[in-house]
Amino acid sequence: MSVEERAARLAAELDADEAAIREDLENLLAYQVPVAEAEESLRRKYGTEGEDGPEPSVDIAEITAGMRRVSVTVAVLGTNTRTISVDGEARELTEGMIADETGRMPYTAWEPVDFEPGDAVTIDGAQVREWNGRLELQFGEGTRIAPAEDAPAVDVSPDGVMRIADIEVGDRALVVEGRILEAESRTIDGRDGPTDIYSGVIADESGRLPFTDWERRAAIVAGETVRTEQVSVREFRGVPSLNFGESVRIESIDKQIDVSQEPDPKPLGAALADGGGFDVLVTGFIVDLREGSGLIERCPECRRRVRGGRCSTHGPVDGEPELRAMAIIDDGTGTATVILDADQTADIYGGSIEDAIAAAREAMDQNVITSTLRSELIGEYVRVRGHLSVDEYGGTLDAMRFETVTESPETAATALLAEVDG
Ligand SMILES: [Zn+2]
Repeated sequence: MSVEERAARLAAELDADEAAIREDLENLLAYQVPVAEAEESLRRKYGTEGEDGPEPSVDIAEITAGMRRVSVTVAVLGTNTRTISVDGEARELTEGMIADETGRMPYTAWEPVDFEPGDAVTIDGAQVREWNGRLELQFGEGTRIAPAEDAPAVDVSPDGVMRIADIEVGDRALVVEGRILEAESRTIDGRDGPTDIYSGVIADESGRLPFTDWERRAAIVAGETVRTEQVSVREFRGVPSLNFGESVRIESIDKQIDVSQEPDPKPLGAALADGGGFDVLVTGFIVDLREGSGLIERCPECRRRVRGGRCSTHGPVDGEPELRAMAIIDDGTGTATVILDADQTADIYGGSIEDAIAAAREAMDQNVITSTLRSELIGEYVRVRGHLSVDEYGGTLDAMRFETVTESPETAATALLAEVDG
């Protein structure tokens, strides 16, 4: 048996990281440690032997990446058993979510488990792992699972359906019910060549999120209300995205879901700290416009901005004129760049793109459009609803809706005081 094979077998036996075990094993063998002794030493290091005492009992919110093994008493939110291939061998695993009063966490069980959604269990000797930036618990051979006497009070709806606003990247085996707001067929470069998928947006009373349906199910039609089970959640442009893979069950349901609700307004600072959001509502003051706002030209080939009649990729081109604005919003807790599309910018400008072109010709200066936008926008108190993404340059808020609020908080406060004073 090769070192690789030994490391793979030990990693599977101990539910431990194969690369780490292989490195340790290679080191021990390099120091002439007999292979049986080396393996025993790795079992002691990575395994559970000699650790038969109970692990520290913790709340889910207390678990940190530095903890190796913990004991928790939790409610099981979901389970999904599937077969994966580990080094060419089929292996069955169960994954899902567990929760207590303090929070919820994904888990992976490498041994068959004897619990169902709704059960309360005490899990002793679970390993703490970080996966895609989120902590999860792993249950292996050394993990003991027993029914719990006191079930933790868990704040999910009694029917086990997860509110869309509460969903996080890394969640698994969720039940989600919502209305399909948009669904479009797309072809993407998949692992096995071009793959046809559906992508779109699903909403419930609490919020909305993007989804991808890899199986193009018949129920995925705009306007349809569906129940989806065994949903896992990935990250897409910084926000959670529901993944409707092979094992996901989807059926149309007859249920009234009011999707007209706006999200609750959120302080920008908190939204930025969360890494953005798919559908956020922010109110604040426009404090500046970024360079590139106004009447610009785009390359007809690549849509990049054309400067001085040249595209940086395609050389001299006949640029296509476009109105756009990038406005900086500040709500006192943070700032972001609001991206306004051609129609929104035309509304603020107070004229069509033809009007803007005519005005620029007459003034022999495109900056007149920018000046108008500045005077219309800067100092305005606005409400913006849209998709907030965050990168190293800060927050970008793609405005789905943009409106000026006539009453700023100050004016509203003054008016209220005047009313109280009579
Ligand atoms: Zn170009």
